[in-house]
Amino acid sequence: MASKSTRISRRRVLKTAGAAAVGTGAALLGEGALAHPSTDARGALSEVEGQGQAPAIGTNTQAGRRVRAFVKLDSTEPPTVQTITLRRLTGRQVAVRTEAAQTCYSSVGQVLLPSPTAPQNITVVGHGGVGIVEAVGPEVSAIQVGDRVIVNFHSTCGWCYSCVRGRADQCLNGGGPSEATADLNGKPVFSGTSGMTEVMVVYQEKCLPVFTSVSPVELSMLTCVGNCGLGMTMTKVPVEAGSDVVVFGAGPVGLHAVQGARIKGAARIIAVEPIAYRRDLASKLGATDVVDPWRYNERRRRPGGGGGTGTADEFDDALVNHIRDLCKLSTDRTWATGGRIGPDHVIEAVGGDRYGNVLIKPAAGSGPDPSGMTVLHQCWELVSRVGTGISGSIGFPNDQRVQIPPNQFADSSKHWWAGTAGGTHTRRDVPRYVRLAEVGKLDLKALASRTYPLNQTTEAYRVAMNREVVATIVTPTT
Ligand SMILES: [Zn+2]
Ligand SMILES: [Zn+2]
Repeated sequence: MASKSTRISRRRVLKTAGAAAVGTGAALLGEGALAHPSTDARGALSEVEGQGQAPAIGTNTQAGRRVRAFVKLDSTEPPTVQTITLRRLTGRQVAVRTEAAQTCYSSVGQVLLPSPTAPQNITVVGHGGVGIVEAVGPEVSAIQVGDRVIVNFHSTCGWCYSCVRGRADQCLNGGGPSEATADLNGKPVFSGTSGMTEVMVVYQEKCLPVFTSVSPVELSMLTCVGNCGLGMTMTKVPVEAGSDVVVFGAGPVGLHAVQGARIKGAARIIAVEPIAYRRDLASKLGATDVVDPWRYNERRRRPGGGGGTGTADEFDDALVNHIRDLCKLSTDRTWATGGRIGPDHVIEAVGGDRYGNVLIKPAAGSGPDPSGMTVLHQCWELVSRVGTGISGSIGFPNDQRVQIPPNQFADSSKHWWAGTAGGTHTRRDVPRYVRLAEVGKLDLKALASRTYPLNQTTEAYRVAMNREVVATIVTPTT
């Protein structure tokens, strides 16, 4: 365990690094990029250094600073890199110089396809990121200038109805600042959940200070997809040592879930994934079995079953049968501790390949049903009598319905959780995810495949959309 003096020294190192890198950032921006030299972030840091550990209330000097950001304009056109002018920080706002931000797959439609309708506000694209705090608003109490923070996509405010009931994964104070944080050609710019910008302006409840040697690029895997994937197997779903777990989807979310299941001591981890290199990676990261869903893409209606409502249990599903075979216990005898059918826990990390009404077709491949509906039905069917299923994805067609036989829904004792935070309480759980990465039990490096500068953000999303690699990361200031 690090001594107190080590911690202080680490903080100083971060501050120094922050100040140095701000200098680089300013150079990158070119002459005149910082509209008010006396109010630049370097000045802010010096001011705080002089005050020791005091909160940086006196450093609220971001107003007028010009930074590059990947923004969705108030038009139907895809986002582009623009130079925006920051406003003065208010209340709980924090300005973070972005070191790394992961391109979440759920944004690829927004980035690569024209919007069906023009958004009302100009908004910075992204699902959080990692960076160094350069300035804080007057009400910020937990974050200090110089801190390296993970800016989570999911908030933990600690005060809302969900948070005080232990359900921070459903925090009601999520999203970006409700007021504009910058301007572009006289129009207000909203931060959104931020990420793809040189400086993120977000509320402090999204920020988690971290004191670690794990690189910002690796840490950026935890801002959104890591919260979801690790949360699914390490929080809400009671994966125990010796459990059997099946994970549908070995993308950025599913591969975190696979690792979470391994860390929790699952006996059997079955990854279902259509893309070969992702199956290989799942095996390296802890899956004991990998399954290509195209090889078991056969669903036959059961003779006389179900009354024709199109529900999962009406089908003789080859993939479900295969997974049940893999999970067969050494005895079926219910008087000898046997009798379970299928895995203990089922994780859904696939989603639908859809943006509005447009179907997204990843070049590297996708599963047999791009709507994602078949996977949802297979997951429900696979959950055993006392097992747990959890889903953590989006993109399903709104005009379709998950159909569950009412007697199963009412009486089967299957448990089901849903939510893209996967059950993660960011302040409780993300520090332990970081710790697991530090000691080598969580491999973030294998997931953080490729980095891109800010001016190639569109390309980074394109590669993510095509699933050419597991994850792409934008590094706006490094
Ligand atoms: Zn995301
Ligand atoms: Zn909350």
